[in-house]
Amino acid sequence: MIKIQVISKYIALSEEGLAKRIECPIDQGLLASNLDFEDKAYLYCLSCSYKKYVGLDLYDQMWRAVEKLHEYRWDIHNKEHAKWKENNPHNDIKWWSV
Ligand SMILES: [Zn+2]
Repeated sequence: MIKIQVISKYIALSEEGLAKRIECPIDQGLLASNLDFEDKAYLYCLSCSYKKYVGLDLYDQMWRAVEKLHEYRWDIHNKEHAKWKENNPHNDIKWWSV
């Protein structure tokens, strides 16, 4: 099942330089994602009429990249939490509110 959220997240990551950018093959323009009337996800170019449906292979690559980064960020979060706990051993609640 292809989820448009994963595709748009991937595009956001690629704009941040955190994932490989997928460009329009015609004019190297930026691609955006959308759903057609049958709920099929596709990419389209913002500057020309290029349109491409997202196949399972491409989706799988996007999904992996999004998951990997999510795990990486969660790992950093946990390390920061551990550090914070060391300095504030009696107050674990505050971490979640800062
Ligand atoms: Zn284009």
